[in-house]
Amino acid sequence: MGYSAFRILKEAITGHKGWKPVWHKAEPLPEYDIVIVGGGGHGLATAHYLASKFDQKRIAVLEKGWIGGGNVGRNTTIIRSNYMLHENEAFYEFSLKLWEGLEQDVNYNAMVSQRGVLNLYHTDPQRDAYIRRGNAMLLNGADAQLLTAEGVRKMYPFLNFDDARFPIRGGLLQPRGGTVRHDAVAWGYAHAADKRGVDIIENCEVTGFDIKEGRCHGVQTTRGRIGAKKVGVAVAGNSGRVMAMAGMRLPIESHVLQAFVSEGLKPLLDGVITYGAGHFYVSQSDKGGLVFGGDIDGYNSYAQRGNLPVVEDVCEGGMSVMPMIGKARMLRMWGGIMDMSMDGSPIIDKTHIDGLYFNGGWCYGGFKATPASGYSFAHLLATDSYHETAKAYRLDRFARGYMIDEKGQGAQPNLH
Ligand SMILES: Cc1cc2nc3c(=O)[nH]c(=O)nc-3n(C[C@H](O)[C@H](O)[C@H](O)COP(=O)(O)OP(=O)(O)OC[C@H]3O[C@@H](n4cnc5c(N)ncnc54)[C@H](O)[C@@H]3O)c2cc1C
Repeated sequence: MGYSAFRILKEAITGHKGWKPVWHKAEPLPEYDIVIVGGGGHGLATAHYLASKFDQKRIAVLEKGWIGGGNVGRNTTIIRSNYMLHENEAFYEFSLKLWEGLEQDVNYNAMVSQRGVLNLYHTDPQRDAYIRRGNAMLLNGADAQLLTAEGVRKMYPFLNFDDARFPIRGGLLQPRGGTVRHDAVAWGYAHAADKRGVDIIENCEVTGFDIKEGRCHGVQTTRGRIGAKKVGVAVAGNSGRVMAMAGMRLPIESHVLQAFVSEGLKPLLDGVITYGAGHFYVSQSDKGGLVFGGDIDGYNSYAQRGNLPVVEDVCEGGMSVMPMIGKARMLRMWGGIMDMSMDGSPIIDKTHIDGLYFNGGWCYGGFKATPASGYSFAHLLATDSYHETAKAYRLDRFARGYMIDEKGQGAQPNLH
């Protein structure tokens, strides 16, 4: 089923009787060419690009729960490509370009909204670091504008400029950054992949790998054995647990990250703001709720819920930059499991086991990476070679000492 203005009109005048499920519920076959473990944004995007760009057939996505139940449906929806290191900036800019054509590509309204992402700075050294970052972005073909305090004041006069512990001195703006409705991304990729014949199999947990003589021949699942020529794992916060079944120990820790939504407010914030003196990022949804978040909870966990000290910490960050939100009530909050890598950058690579491939280590930032991650993982699975923007995301970089340490904070998940 395709979506179009004509289709909406037709359904409106015929009583909305023709809408079909966005993807069909597939039953597992005994054997596939490629099995993707994990039906989050990255797994579904991989399946879509495998089928649409790399002409692969007989593909299945195995999801232990339901589509959209993982981080893809739990994040704070921010997309951007404002990185500094070349290894990251080229990749995230590729992703932003894919976001720009995503809705046409998958024929699904994901509410891609390039409303601008503004990183506030509060000190002279921070301004200098942002100038450097902005120049790195421009050199990689992205967009960046440095704003003074006056420039920021014109956009958001209600921010706490002077009466604050850390007065706002200006900001680095990426106008092409913005937000995307997170779960619609999962539904859109599922819709497009399903249309090209990919089997999307929910309630199918992978419980083991069939590995013989150094080669992976398939997976064991709660719905029986499924054979595969190639298996790609994209399970985000469950990376450590799943790859342990293949005997691998990853340079990744799992941590909880929470997100928060306030009650609906009148239109107030038409872009995304991040606070530079603490960890707080906020946007406003079309329904009026302020959608915001901050730090990870700071302890290892596989639970999709967090604790109260971080709620207080995040709200304090919000209050210091936008004091008037102290009067708003919080409507809901939830947690997701973050796959925090030891240098803050992701991994898209083959493993030492033939036929077994791994995608993970996305930390806080994997939502914006969804299209490029799916594309480059599909490239690797289909061609056994690395996509040009993802060549640096090797698993052995930790052993080689070639970290991609964007923030220069080393192997400390709580600081990335
Ligand atoms: C609160 C929060 C806020 C965030 N904010 C942002 C943001 O603003 N911008 C940004 O870029 N990123 C953000 N992120 C990070 C981003 O959401 C993730 O990095 C990204 O979604 C991870 O990739 P995914 O979508 O494939 O993960 P998921 O949706 O978690 O997909 C992995 C899937 O694998 C499945 N799975 C696990 N084990 C198995 C198994 N054994 N068998 C079968 N299936 C299995 C899981 O059920 C899950 O559905 C945020 C994350 C959270 C939690």
